[in-house]
Amino acid sequence: MSIKSAALFQEPQITIEGTSLNFGIAQGYAYMYDPQYTEDAQLPVNQKIQIFLQAINKAATLCSNNLTIRSTDSQELILVQKALLQDSAWQQRVIDKIENKLSITHALDKVLEDLDIALGIDNFWHARSQEIRGISQLVRQCLEKKEINFDKDKPIILCAKTISPVEMMLFEQAKLAAMIVQDNSFLSHGMIIARSRGIPVVGGAVDLKEFINHDDELLVDGDLGRVYVRPHSITIANYDISKKVSLSKSSENTKNKIVISRDGTPVHLSINANLNEDLASLDHSAIEGIGLYRTEIPFMTSERWPDVETQIRLYLNVLNKAKEKFVVFRTLDVGGDKTFQSLHKSFNNTKKGWKHSRFTLQRPSLIRLQLRAMIRARVTCDYPDLPLHIMFPMVSEAQEMSFLRTLIQKELDREKNLGNKIPQTVRIGAMVEVPSVVFQLNQFLDLVDFISIGSNDLFHFFYAIDRTDAVMSKRYDLLSKAFMQMLKTIIDKAKAKNVNVSLCGEMASRPLEAMALLGIGLRYFSVNPSSIETIENMVQSLDIWSVQECMNDCLSDNPFAYKAAHLSIRERVLELAQIQQTQLS
Ligand code: PEP
Ligand code: MG
Repeated sequence: MSIKSAALFQEPQITIEGTSLNFGIAQGYAYMYDPQYTEDAQLPVNQKIQIFLQAINKAATLCSNNLTIRSTDSQELILVQKALLQDSAWQQRVIDKIENKLSITHALDKVLEDLDIALGIDNFWHARSQEIRGISQLVRQCLEKKEINFDKDKPIILCAKTISPVEMMLFEQAKLAAMIVQDNSFLSHGMIIARSRGIPVVGGAVDLKEFINHDDELLVDGDLGRVYVRPHSITIANYDISKKVSLSKSSENTKNKIVISRDGTPVHLSINANLNEDLASLDHSAIEGIGLYRTEIPFMTSERWPDVETQIRLYLNVLNKAKEKFVVFRTLDVGGDKTFQSLHKSFNNTKKGWKHSRFTLQRPSLIRLQLRAMIRARVTCDYPDLPLHIMFPMVSEAQEMSFLRTLIQKELDREKNLGNKIPQTVRIGAMVEVPSVVFQLNQFLDLVDFISIGSNDLFHFFYAIDRTDAVMSKRYDLLSKAFMQMLKTIIDKAKAKNVNVSLCGEMASRPLEAMALLGIGLRYFSVNPSSIETIENMVQSLDIWSVQECMNDCLSDNPFAYKAAHLSIRERVLELAQIQQTQLS
């Protein structure tokens, strides 16, 4: 009887639409992670402060323990968490609120709220405030007596409001199949780690507790940003989950092979790297190098500004791991960080767009130290005769590029005067991610050896939307005619000037978008390590000639040339992929 009624009242399948924070499909059981702490309202203030400080110690110990068990560079991110936890200014803010009669958890929330107001909505600060949200949640976890328990053999899907790097370490021993988060942004450190580990993530989800019970069966589609709660057997059958296993990063170690399309066109793939963990993907034979190495991650995670020696060690490690493959070092792309208090004070500017060149052009000495470290690392690494590739982000004016070039020249001259070796070749590049550059391309292209399109920022600046705003980001399509037209202009002009052009935004890692990019002439892609095989499979099963024809047709201004005017570019490219049986997953 009870079995029958259970079956009768079994809850139906629910579909939750969110956004894709990392690709991949996974099936598993919900683990509802929601640190709760119920406080005795009668507790004297002093005792509350003691409990708060004990929780901080417990959280810091947790960080230290994770530092010893983890051998990878996730350690850097844990160190940031530890440093943030021990930040006396933050602790004092919480203590002040507790002294003002707030409960510990309420005090933690209130400090976060105040910070959100003070820091504003700038992407960078938004991501940083998430770090503080992360430590607040960790402290809550440590306030609570309940331990985290899971069956190590059961695939779990972590469901949380937000996840910090250290909290991810709490699930180190778990079989973590996927994650669903409400508030993490794409740029938060928890997500950077998830991507490095190839864990599918859906973000921007609605109140999870309302729809998901602990232990519910879930199917997560990180490609579409969709979650099926208690999926029907038909839904599961439609997904061939076995095909979606993420790339085994260190497996191949074979000689380079260039990826060739079905109609014989070579396509060049490289990776975007943020952490040491990403470097393992260099062993993949299809990968020719690192198209974007984001140097700001180690800067963000250091308590102090890394000196030249520290930076040299970091860059040497990357170059030696890359061996003969190329590495494009992107110079610092942040406008300041709370861990660099001295810089933060003098550049107390959290406004949107206060990024790389606007920041470093005011402080050339900082960028010069970084360039010095890159030059020294190149000449002392195991492959000292290979070119040094340096790329500047967020350049907005041709004059800025000229100035940045003079900084490199000054550093090379300085090294020569000191009797030090300098690289045989230095290739200087820039990211094209501010639309103003597109209107001065001819002049700009004369100043660079290569460009890489930063479609993440370019798209959002182009449509005047906030990159972290999930709702707005969905409003416009990356494959819109206007945006694709702009990308084609960049690609055509670069090719006409013989300047190598690649694209390193997330767009390159999405198979349908990458297919359209091939159709407008792009041949160099720098992709997220977890997307290498998907993009490789797409290229190998694609007839580039016909997608080129399709894109010419879509971008044509002649209404009669546009054969299927009622369809969007996305629909037309998808239709073509279906006709050609191009692999999109
Ligand atoms: C971009 O803007 O496309 C890019 C690759 O840079 P980031 O995502 O680091 O801003
Ligand atoms: Mg960018």
